[in-house]
Amino acid sequence: MTLTVTEHPSKFANLEYVYPVFARRSGGLSLGINLNLNKACNWRCIYCQVPGLKRGAPERVDLIKLESELKYMLNIIINTDYLQQNLPQGFGRFDDIALAGDGEPTLSKDFFAVVNIIAKLKQQFNITNSVKTILISNGSEVNHVEVQNGLQALAQQNGLVWFKIDGTNVAETSQINQVQVSGENIKHRLELTAKLCPTVIQTCMFKINNRDPSEEQVQNYINLLKETKDNFQSVLLYTIARVPQLPEGKNLTPVSLKFLQNIAQELHKFDIVVKCFV
Ligand code: SF4
Repeated sequence: MTLTVTEHPSKFANLEYVYPVFARRSGGLSLGINLNLNKACNWRCIYCQVPGLKRGAPERVDLIKLESELKYMLNIIINTDYLQQNLPQGFGRFDDIALAGDGEPTLSKDFFAVVNIIAKLKQQFNITNSVKTILISNGSEVNHVEVQNGLQALAQQNGLVWFKIDGTNVAETSQINQVQVSGENIKHRLELTAKLCPTVIQTCMFKINNRDPSEEQVQNYINLLKETKDNFQSVLLYTIARVPQLPEGKNLTPVSLKFLQNIAQELHKFDIVVKCFV
């Protein structure tokens, strides 16, 4: 089977926590780790692609099982021709291990323990620096000490936080993420995150009822990134590639690559590095 960008199986080879995916944003294999088996998240983004998403927090992780699954997959990826057999031609690269599941990973009480398991296995397989560890996060839990410890441990293993910013004020986050987050709160959490681990901004833009985000919304976004640019390395701008799973997402469609590139062009004026994906 060749993994494609649209395949994002939460279950692979009867594994519960670990799943391989060809990630369009990295152009290589990403080994996902899902800490939210119960599909619980504290946010409810209208474009969310988790089927059956519910509000809440994940259950405790079976750390022994997770470690054995991760070891099993790392062994296959590193010691067999798995990459050549399963990735599209020309993309046979193991890019990252990604904490990215069916909900916000840092809600897990086991987040720090899991980061340490990843560090241990990366060391065993001698991939600490060659393979990134990415945390895909809405950044909501960074005030907690355990999460901060996890981010510090992440930084020591070629780690990166992909910090979600889809809206820049209470009105926008209420509409897009269905939580009320102010611009000040975003800035505060971003600064805290960046102090602990290298950070990249990830932003999903899309049409609602066939209308692009408004000029005001785009300008708010550019202003926020301009103000906070010392706290992140680069920006990943993307649109929806798969059908949103929530009923709230039924009126969403992708924006064009040109739309994203125009925003990237504005951000380049402030020396902000941007990658666009459709
Ligand atoms: S933070 Fe992620 S998992 Fe949670 S609702 Fe938003 S897109 Fe879905």
